[in-house]
Amino acid sequence: MKINEKRILSTVKDIIEIFNLTYPLDIDEFVEKLNIDLKFIDTGNCDGLFLCHKGKKKILINKSANRLRKNFTIGHELGHYFIEHHLSQLYDCNIEDKNNIKGSVNSNRLFEQEADIFSGELLLPTEILRKENYCSLDRIRTISKKYGISIPATAIKVMHIQKEPMVFMQFNKNSIIWHQSSIGETSNCHNLSNMLSIPDTSHFYKLNKYGYTMREISSYGWLVDEFDDPSVKIKEEIIYCKDYDYGYILLDLSEVYKRYELE
Ligand SMILES: [Zn+2]
Repeated sequence: MKINEKRILSTVKDIIEIFNLTYPLDIDEFVEKLNIDLKFIDTGNCDGLFLCHKGKKKILINKSANRLRKNFTIGHELGHYFIEHHLSQLYDCNIEDKNNIKGSVNSNRLFEQEADIFSGELLLPTEILRKENYCSLDRIRTISKKYGISIPATAIKVMHIQKEPMVFMQFNKNSIIWHQSSIGETSNCHNLSNMLSIPDTSHFYKLNKYGYTMREISSYGWLVDEFDDPSVKIKEEIIYCKDYDYGYILLDLSEVYKRYELE
């Protein structure tokens, strides 16, 4: 069985209409409306659980998670409740909103991925995102705060609908952990697929304690040799949390794409 993303998105759309949801969504209130018992407790290594027994429904959420992660996990557990073929009476879940990549402990990965898509769409519906200006990392951060959904989860949705060639990545220390682009395969236009660390040419190395920067820089460093004409610029935007030694980078490759007539 494959993930039917369209169907999940349309399920969320129906839910928004039926329950007349307004945004930004108060997800705790929505759970209450559904008569589901929501508890924040110590769930050990598990992000959240969904239980359904004799008609009684319960969602248990790890109390030690931050609020954005709690929101995402609640949305994920609601996915198990609403997605038609998720009929098990018990789900114990580790979410994968890219803030914490560790894979799921639940044997059914497909269901877990579906519940993640459900959650992202419930917290920030694509239609609502389209009405926001989402064309920079700074805006992605603002949208993330407004809708109570993490920066990576917001960026994944943005990369999905973004028409300009952009690449979002998350880094730890100076290593790139993962990236998602609006243009699909990235290996033709830059060396991200082989890249293990942020290149020396990046402004990352000039940032102080907690940093935000947006610069036009030469494409040299980020891109493969054939696209390293120094007159062609790329836009590099960085958010860096030095205390935790992680952050995000958004590269805007529009100029490179225009110059080399890439698709
Ligand atoms: Zn789950």
